[in-house]
Amino acid sequence: MSDAMSIERFIRPELAAFKGYAACKSPDVIGKKLGIPPSSVVKLDANENNYGPSPRVSAALGACGAYNIYPDAAQAELRELLAGYTAMPPETIAAGAGCDQLIELLIKLFCAPGDEIINLPPTFPMYRFYAELHGVRVIDVSRDADFQFDTASVRQAVTPKTKLIMLANPNNPTGTLTTKETIIELAETGMPLVVDEAYYEFTGESAIPLMASYPNIMVLRTFSKWAGLAGLRVGYGVFPAYIACRLHAVRDPYNVNASAIVAVRESLADVDYLMGNVRKIVAERERLSGELVKIRWLKPHPSHANFILCDVLEGDARELQAALEERGILVRYYADQRLKNCLRLSVGRPEENDALIAAFKEIGR
Ligand SMILES: *Cc1c(COP(=O)(O)O)cnc(C)c1O
Repeated sequence: MSDAMSIERFIRPELAAFKGYAACKSPDVIGKKLGIPPSSVVKLDANENNYGPSPRVSAALGACGAYNIYPDAAQAELRELLAGYTAMPPETIAAGAGCDQLIELLIKLFCAPGDEIINLPPTFPMYRFYAELHGVRVIDVSRDADFQFDTASVRQAVTPKTKLIMLANPNNPTGTLTTKETIIELAETGMPLVVDEAYYEFTGESAIPLMASYPNIMVLRTFSKWAGLAGLRVGYGVFPAYIACRLHAVRDPYNVNASAIVAVRESLADVDYLMGNVRKIVAERERLSGELVKIRWLKPHPSHANFILCDVLEGDARELQAALEERGILVRYYADQRLKNCLRLSVGRPEENDALIAAFKEIGR
């Protein structure tokens, strides 16, 4: 076929060099490579919940006979359930195929190409991903050595093109919690402020109560981390009612699938069980952190979520990640300049965390 027939030149030029998201590896692929079953891979690389979903979820998924029907485009039951969980009115709630989809919807709703968002790196890479995908400029206000940021610098970064400030709280991948006072200072800029509370259940601290006084605050949540539903893709947000209404207008009508709705229903009927697992993860986080401190060449940062960011003080973090992978243990490595000597370790079940510690000790010998 001649080059003249190639369709490559028709794609949007600005996306020709778009790199995509460096997602974590699948345990199937790693298991096959190592010759072990995928279930023996110790997966500590994506902040998933290794206790899994509520047992009510798999039972109800099997029993639900309505998969041939499109889910309710109005999200009526879902919003009712989430209203109960958040104690906010249903008209302030919109759900998505993961919190990720809501991040993209907010960028699409607020930002035209050439507009700007303020980002507080190191942070969740999907803010940059969606901004760049939609031709939106990312203005970085970097966090300091303790991963805190200066609200005066954020204020200075605001321009007439600024449309959103993105704050992950607790922050991923650092585990840092931003105080209520700092969130108020960000809100006082008057800019639309997205507070991404993907790890809310691990801290219990939320910006939702601030929404009454600061109508520019929007809060995002997910079922991926605390409820163990990462694979079903379901998240939600609490917004001023007008914004929720606009999000419903621009989202795909069936964005949350039928099985995800079943899973939310069952999870919210089993909150005590799930929060029991959250408490176990928090206790394990503290135990794991205590063990990591004892390893001379590792320095864990304090975390308010279900993972620990750890400095690798000697040797190469990327090589350490590879050495763990050879032992069937997956952890997260970031190529970016600021985090290149770090690993992010998700907190697993006790035996998985023990395996991680044992592997560190063996590698370090
Ligand atoms: C994991 C994570 C998300 C993504 O949540 P999904 O519901 O799985 O899309 C969003 N924000 C932050 C900060 C996260 O760590």
